[in-house]
Amino acid sequence: MAIEFGQQMEEERIVSSVLNREDDQEGGLRPRLLNDYTGQEKAKENLQVYISAARLRAEPLDHVLLYGPPGLGKTTLAGIISNEMGVNIRITSGPAIEKAGDLAALLTNLNENDVLFIDEIHRLNRSVEEVLYPAMEDYALDIIIGKGPAARSIRLDLPRFTLIGATTRAGQLSSPLRDRFGVQLRLELYTPEELQRIVTRTAGILGVEIDDSGSMEIARRSRGTPRIANRILKRVRDFAQVKGNGQVDRAMADLALSALEIDRLGLDRTDRRMLESIIVNFRGGPVGLETLAATIGEESVTLEDVYEPYLMQIGFLNRTPRGRCVTPRAYDHLGIPFQGQLEL
Ligand code: ADP
Repeated sequence: MAIEFGQQMEEERIVSSVLNREDDQEGGLRPRLLNDYTGQEKAKENLQVYISAARLRAEPLDHVLLYGPPGLGKTTLAGIISNEMGVNIRITSGPAIEKAGDLAALLTNLNENDVLFIDEIHRLNRSVEEVLYPAMEDYALDIIIGKGPAARSIRLDLPRFTLIGATTRAGQLSSPLRDRFGVQLRLELYTPEELQRIVTRTAGILGVEIDDSGSMEIARRSRGTPRIANRILKRVRDFAQVKGNGQVDRAMADLALSALEIDRLGLDRTDRRMLESIIVNFRGGPVGLETLAATIGEESVTLEDVYEPYLMQIGFLNRTPRGRCVTPRAYDHLGIPFQGQLEL
């Protein structure tokens, strides 16, 4: 129940980077080819080479692991890989595959060279994961027939396929699974300039008139995350239509973002609450993740995956072996005088 409540809260948060109902229309906004995919230059450059080489050899691409915070484009990239390879993609997720048999059914239904995309792959259960090892390594499925002493194992050949796994936490993957991915790509938070290009592109698709100052304002306040940038753009569009003439410039973006209580760095009430709680209750830290999560009533996983990456990137939060610490820069942003921390 606690988890459901946490997820509900997360869905309602405009700067949440987790998929919500409105994002269901994301399909139309997703770039379909590598050239339309903004940013992540390093990952893109390498992928381009691997894809070209696999195509030249008429072989499936090696298995790919994509990791990084939610909303940065892992699912999008998986779709792009299948498009660039000219193959089909089957999409599923770790928690959706309950039994080994579910995975066996998915695998046997693939065509040669197809992509199987497993989101949240760190949440696969152990028995399912074990089916994956021979499938990834030898394109084979080991099936046990019979029970007790008469049981025997037979091996079924599978089509050669590419597994693309996505996870917010590569560290939680078992090492036998992680080691079976030949390509491992870490996605980074986007720069404001990259996000500006994404906002401009999305505005073009949605038919929103926006100038450079408007797209930059949204980009700067989107926590380095395309999903948030697209979502904020939709809200700003509402404001522009009701309170203005439909056009988005910096003033209009600012008006909408201020109404949504998203500050000039993209922090919302919950971010500020988290920082303030560390400052007020723990004198700026260090405080352990679990203690902090309990204090502000959030899931520790959500804090770690969704809130912290951006707060660390902008230098507001440090992770130390003894816990989380708020930096003087964050005190400054919140307008709270810095009086030194317990000890670092
Ligand atoms: P993830 O799987 O990492 O949670 P998604 O692939 O679902 O993220 O991306 C979320 C949204 O952000 C999608 O609507 C997609 O269109 C957009 N997006 C993500 N990365 C990019 C990018 N590099 N260029 C353009 N749009 C992007």
